[in-house]
Order: sequence, then C-alpha cells, then structure tokens
Amino acid sequence: MEEQNILDCIIVGSGPSGFTAAIYAARADLKPELYTGLEPGGQLTTTTEVDNFPGYANGVTGPEMMIDLQKQAERFDTKVHYEMITKTEFSNEVGGIHKLWAGKKELFAKTVIISTGATAKYLGLDDEKKYSGGGVSACATCDGFFYKGKDVIVVGGGDTAAEEATYLAKLCKHVTILVRKGEFRASKAMIHRVDNTENITVLFHHELIGIEGENSLVERAVVINNETNEESKIDVHGIFIAIGHKPNTDIFKDQLTTDENGYLVTDSKSTRTNFPGIFAAGDVQDHIYRQAITAAGSGCMAAMDAEKYLGELENKPKDYIEYN
Ligand code: NDP
Repeated sequence: MEEQNILDCIIVGSGPSGFTAAIYAARADLKPELYTGLEPGGQLTTTTEVDNFPGYANGVTGPEMMIDLQKQAERFDTKVHYEMITKTEFSNEVGGIHKLWAGKKELFAKTVIISTGATAKYLGLDDEKKYSGGGVSACATCDGFFYKGKDVIVVGGGDTAAEEATYLAKLCKHVTILVRKGEFRASKAMIHRVDNTENITVLFHHELIGIEGENSLVERAVVINNETNEESKIDVHGIFIAIGHKPNTDIFKDQLTTDENGYLVTDSKSTRTNFPGIFAAGDVQDHIYRQAITAAGSGCMAAMDAEKYLGELENKPKDYIEYN
C-alpha cells in the first residue's frame, strides 16, 4: 500500500454531522473525503421547513440547508463521493490503517468519522409516502409547529410516542395516541405525563390503516380497533409516526461496540468508538436528542477528535499515545 493512497480522514455519511465534520476536518488540513451514501443529505432531505437551526433567521428547507452545508464543506476542498461504503475492516492498533470499500473500490485511511445517521421507522402504508410532507411526519420537534391549534395523531406506545405526544399537546388543540397493544411500552414516568395531560386521548388496541385528504394534505386518519375489527375515521391535520428509529450501523456492528438498540457507543464526552482512529457523530450514536444542530455539534467534535488523534500520532512514539 503506497503512502499517498492512505487518506488522513474518511467521513461516511452526508447529514449535518458528516458535513460539519468535513468543514472542520478540511480546515484542519486533513483533506477529508466524504462518502454520501444512498441518501445524500440524510434525513433532512425528507423534511420541509427547518425553523430551529440557529443562523437561518427566516427558516430554510431541509434540502436547501444540506446543499449549503455541502457547498461550505467543498469550499475548503472536501472531496464528496456520491457512493456508498459497503464494507469496513478497522485496525484495532493505535496508528493502524483502516480499510473501507465503496463497492469494489478499496480505500485506506488513518481516521474514519462515521456519521451514517438513523432512519425513522414507518408503518409501511402506501399513504405514508403519499402524504409525506403533507401532514405525515416522524419528528414532532421538527414539524409540530405547523400544527399549532390543530388536531393530530401520534402512532406508537414507547417513550418516543409519549414524549412526542406531550410535546405536541402544548402546541396542538388535541392529540390522540394510537397504541396497538392494550398497554404502553413507555416508562412509568412518561405514561404519568401522558395521563396528566388533559388534551391527550389514548386509544389502546388501535392501529392506523389509511389516510384521507384532498391534494395530498392529511384530513382524516382511518383506524381500526384490532380487538373488534371495527374501523373508524378521525379528523386530523397531522400524523406523527413514533414507532422507533433504526441506526444505520449494519456494516459496522461486527467490529464496533453498539448498545442494545444498535447505536454506536462512544467514550463519554468524546466521539471515540472502541477502535482507535474511528469516531462516531450524529444520530448514529445519539438516540436522545436527534436534532440537526446536535448532530452538527458532534460532527465538529469528531473532526477535532480525529485531528487530535493524528497530531498525537505524529508527535509521540506509538507506545506513548494515551488512548482511552
Ligand atoms: P420503542 O421500540 O421503545 O417503542 C416503539 C413503540 O412503537 C412500541 O410501543 C411498539 O409497539 C410500537 N410499534 C412498533 N411497530 C409498530 C407498528 N408497526 N404499528 C404500531 N405500533 C408499532 O421505540 P422508542 O423510539 O419509543 O424508544 C427507543 C429507545 O429510546 C427506548 O429505549 C426508549 O426508552 C428511549 N427513549 C428515551 C426517551 C427519554 O428517556 N426521554 C425518549 C425517547 C426514547 P409494541 O409495544 O406493541 O411493540
């Protein structure tokens, strides 16, 4: 392997964390190369208005923001590849060279920043796609504002559903939670909050089976009681699917430590994984905050951690490098 083929830093993923890592890594002269994956721009490209990212006084659309972030990363000579990383073989030695594949193309790097994000789970109904952007969302913090004073539904019975419902209850006129079982999976504390919120109604044993509305705008939810098989319709403007997220870690989980839900585990207060030179940023390692701004923040941290790691390699003999 020739030295010139070994990159200082490869970034996998193109959401706010990946591009922010690229901006910081490029400015630190790590000459990062970023692989976008199948959905360049990540989850934000599936949202409409983003009003909570600091710096956009008049708001911005998700896709526009991602184009801006990419342009900013490219301004400092980040090389962006519209390709998918399909396989990895990380070295567990300090200073070791990590190997990645983009299809048949082999890549070598001293550091890798993983920012592959997480994907919101959907029910799999055709109507979810039809009404996406017209009232169906998987993020109350992102989209709840558009349903101020209106009636909405939340689907799910876990902590996310309970949290989204109580968040929405502060903005919306009424929130109906559809729970498919006869009980919540959410923690007692969250259930308590739901029970104590006046404008939330919980329908147990209920599932969403269809959506109706003119011009691809949600007007009604079609639901079924799975005990009685009775169908009914509920007038709503927004439907929030809160049945969990899946972190995009399939190709890493044989090597890197993940938690019980598949999220990459990072060392406290840093973005270091259990392999030296491999860092994780954004939703792939954060199931709690899941915001563009927190993802961007951890992308910045990952680039700084990578720069520090490379600096220590240059300045100290291998044995002296303090790692973990
Ligand atoms: P969970 O996997 O905990 O819950 C998913 C919920 O969605 C369950 O009630 C499940 O039903 C339901 N569901 C799944 N598939 C379907 C479907 N096809 N149709 C209808 N309902 C469905 O996911 P969460 O995102 O809620 O939580 C993930 C993790 O994050 C948990 O560990 C949670 O505790 C944590 N979390 C913590 C928070 C906090 O502490 N503030 C906030 C949010 C999450 P069923 O029970 O029938 O399987």
